[in-house]
Amino acid sequence: MEEAKQLFTKLKIYSLLDLALIIPTSYNDTTLSKSLVLGQVHTLEAKVIESSVYGGKLRVTFTLTDSGRRLSSTFFRSTPYHHKQFSVGSSHVIQGKLEEYKGYLQMSQPKSIKQIGKITPKYKTVLKESSIASLMECYITEKNLYNEGLDSKEVATLMLLHFPKSIDEIYENNSLKGELKDRLKFIEAFNHLKKLQGKRVDFPAIRALNGDIEPFISNLPFTLTAEQMSVISDIRKDVAKEDKACKRMVVGDVGSGKTMVILASVMMAYPHKSILMAPTSLLALQLYEEAYKHLPSWVKVALVMQGRDKGDYVEADFVIGTHALLYKEDLPRASLVMVDEQHRFGTQQRQSLETLVSSQTHKAHFIQFSATPIPRTQAMMQSELLDVSLITTTPFEREVLTQTISKEDFPDLLGHIKEEIAQEHQVLIIYPLVEASSEVPYQSLEESRGFWEKKFKQVYVTHGKDKHKEEVLLKFREEGSILLATTVVEVGISLPKLTLIVIVGAERLGLATLHQLRGRVGRNGLKSWCYLYSNKKENFRLQQFTQTTNGFDIAKLDLKFRDSGDILDGTIQSGQKFKWLDMAEDEEVVAYAKKRVKIKKELK
Ligand code: ADP
Ligand code: MG
Repeated sequence: MEEAKQLFTKLKIYSLLDLALIIPTSYNDTTLSKSLVLGQVHTLEAKVIESSVYGGKLRVTFTLTDSGRRLSSTFFRSTPYHHKQFSVGSSHVIQGKLEEYKGYLQMSQPKSIKQIGKITPKYKTVLKESSIASLMECYITEKNLYNEGLDSKEVATLMLLHFPKSIDEIYENNSLKGELKDRLKFIEAFNHLKKLQGKRVDFPAIRALNGDIEPFISNLPFTLTAEQMSVISDIRKDVAKEDKACKRMVVGDVGSGKTMVILASVMMAYPHKSILMAPTSLLALQLYEEAYKHLPSWVKVALVMQGRDKGDYVEADFVIGTHALLYKEDLPRASLVMVDEQHRFGTQQRQSLETLVSSQTHKAHFIQFSATPIPRTQAMMQSELLDVSLITTTPFEREVLTQTISKEDFPDLLGHIKEEIAQEHQVLIIYPLVEASSEVPYQSLEESRGFWEKKFKQVYVTHGKDKHKEEVLLKFREEGSILLATTVVEVGISLPKLTLIVIVGAERLGLATLHQLRGRVGRNGLKSWCYLYSNKKENFRLQQFTQTTNGFDIAKLDLKFRDSGDILDGTIQSGQKFKWLDMAEDEEVVAYAKKRVKIKKELK
């Protein structure tokens, strides 16, 4: 079927269920109408009782066989063929929209139907109607659908939608009947998961890791949360295996305590080596300091970053670094490789990481950490490719009050900023742009800095393209009052004295970005504020954001607002788009689909 193959490519169809999930958008039904309802399309048996040509138009009067009522029709641009077809005394089945004019039934330009009781699905695709219809007839059979692993109800649903015997079974007030829609959701999830399933490739590990984490845990100044412990136990099971290298992603909100999970993993690897890569030198430095502080003294830690190495990375048990790690030719092979803030790395950097992980046939255990919460549904889907652990709570309740503000609130804001600085707290103001632009109705960083520098001492400025960004951030951390920046500070550095953040033009940013920014304040439990500055204070999306603090709930919200037009920063993950499945709501459907995919695999 070379021809069919080409059509499938055109339609971007890669599985039988991809085809089956192209659901008709409407149906042409030639079942005879049982009653007359004005404004709707009817199929009626009728006999011609009068026929006349009238200014180029053909006017035909019928009597309807069922009701005996009269109905008149006009054919514009009529041909001699029409005249002959609708001669007086002839019988027809006509189809068209029923209307009424001065008490007389009318049907303009009716079609003459040859076959009664036929339901033809209409598909909206790039293909010709006849081509798509013949593809469906050829491939969508009960046998093929059962072969895909569907059960009898699901098969019946698809057969009904593609080859209906009656339209009534399909619709309920013009939309798909609830149960049909639920089954389509399931089939969509099932199809997606089946495709992912074949994609996971596992390799044997360099070695199994069984190091004792107790000396580290018992020495911590706090107890780990239940979720931290549960992730640690997930990882423990993974790395204890030799036949399969660990491949896990740990997703946890900013401040959920992922660093402790990293350090516990280092303990599991000890006395073998671990490597941790971070996206910026500042973050690497911070991780180094934490490792130094919390790991037992006998675990040797080293830091690798351009020009500022600490310790001997060849000797060390735990090497922390930036991508500078990738250029060290004498970097020893590690049994455990980790990446912090993995969402901050480019695709290319992630690929070169592979070289750290692999040693011909055996791979290092590999754990990635991400602070971009994803909906549970997405995590469940992704876990077909790699294992996923979620940390959904933070060790201590952070008190961050979020509020939308506008021009009229500026004097109050200024007062509040002064108060915070007086208490030796720090303030962060995020601008949408560095330079002025006519396209953005807000002041830029450069336009505003003069104002702040005149009013306050210790004002620091940085932005994404700033070569000295990291030094500025370090200086600010030590002695700054106000930091003016663009969204660069998203990078997970911790500024413990930060208690107030203002985000200018907040409505332009995605909720995920806003949440990351808000995560900068109140890191140490200090009461904090997040002000969303917008020219228009009434914004439903921002309003919802002010009331939602959990990153996983934000991810759900973000999905809901996916189509709203005011998001410009493209932070929304361009995940798989589903037609029926709602990633924010359909957790149960995805869970069930996962179960079914697993059963199918085991049966094979
Ligand atoms: P993340 O990397 O997930 O954003 P961190 O690991 O930086 O978060 O942790 C944030 C803060 O919480 C740090 O100051 C850390 O020392 C502290 N912390 C971590 N776990 C706990 C815990 N179980 N109890 C109290 N504080 C904790
Ligand atoms: Mg972190």
